Amino acid sequence: MNVIVCVKQIPDPALPGELDADNTLKREGKLILDESDSYGVEMALQLVNTAGEGDVTLVSMAPNEEVSGLRTALAMGAAKAVLVSDPALAGADALTTAKVLAGAVGKAGDYDLIIAGTESSDGYTGTVPEQIAEVLGLPSVTFAKTVTVDGDTLKVDRQTEAGYDEVTCSLPAVVSVTAGVVEPRYPSFKGIMAAKSKPVDTVTAADLGVESVSWAQQITSVEDAPAREAGEIIEDDGETFNRIVEFLDNLKVI
Ligand SMILES: Cc1cc2nc3c(=O)[nH]c(=O)nc-3n(C[C@H](O)[C@H](O)[C@H](O)COP(=O)(O)OP(=O)(O)OC[C@H]3O[C@@H](n4cnc5c(N)ncnc54)[C@H](O)[C@@H]3O)c2cc1C
Repeated sequence: MNVIVCVKQIPDPALPGELDADNTLKREGKLILDESDSYGVEMALQLVNTAGEGDVTLVSMAPNEEVSGLRTALAMGAAKAVLVSDPALAGADALTTAKVLAGAVGKAGDYDLIIAGTESSDGYTGTVPEQIAEVLGLPSVTFAKTVTVDGDTLKVDRQTEAGYDEVTCSLPAVVSVTAGVVEPRYPSFKGIMAAKSKPVDTVTAADLGVESVSWAQQITSVEDAPAREAGEIIEDDGETFNRIVEFLDNLKVI
């Protein structure tokens, strides 16, 4: 069972973001593993472990040949990675990102399943996994809250507003997983040390034959979001519930 996982490397959301001259997010320096993708990595490791054979390979598109986020996923237990890094991809749109990742999948070797997050933590168009499936001509199953493999069949409980659908399809396929599908493991010290020497094959867009298409819209200005107004504090005088009901009624939520 060989599983490929799409791993986005993003600026650390815990740090204040900086903008480039064109008002896009600065992506220089250290990038970290997008938390949304730590679930995909863990899911892949568990599927390979259950199958008793096979590998987990990572694919990522990131600037400046950045690998810090990949090393975290390699430290969790993935075997190797393909990184696509190319200045020509700066500001690439979601379809280009999908074509690049589909190309990287082609470099990653044989696979039975491709896993991605339902949406990234920074761009969050939530469209890249489905576009990868379209580019590769594979079935796409989304919003998986459970993933099992039985022979050549993928079985997924697909999260819906009403509960979940039981979805099955034949492998190979692309599945996007929700946060919480599994509990990601923390890399061990042994894993972190081993990750330093695990292979990362770095390629360009040209190596994959992908031509980058940039975003349609330009960001003309960026302003700070208005500070949230302080809420009203109400001391309970035994009748306060009336005011709360009135408040909710005005909001038309009851
Ligand atoms: C200001 C701004 C303007 C934009 N304008 C456009 C536009 O005009 N047209 C347009 O198409 N897009 C536009 N985008 C979206 C941008 O192109 C996407 O954010 C980007 O391509 C990556 O997609 P995503 O993060 O939205 O992926 P999502 O679909 O939200 O990510 C889902 C999953 O896909 C995988 N994935 C996504 N990106 C990567 C990666 N780089 N490496 C590895 N795995 C990855 C991960 O598993 C991730 O969890 C704009 C974004 C911004 C911030």
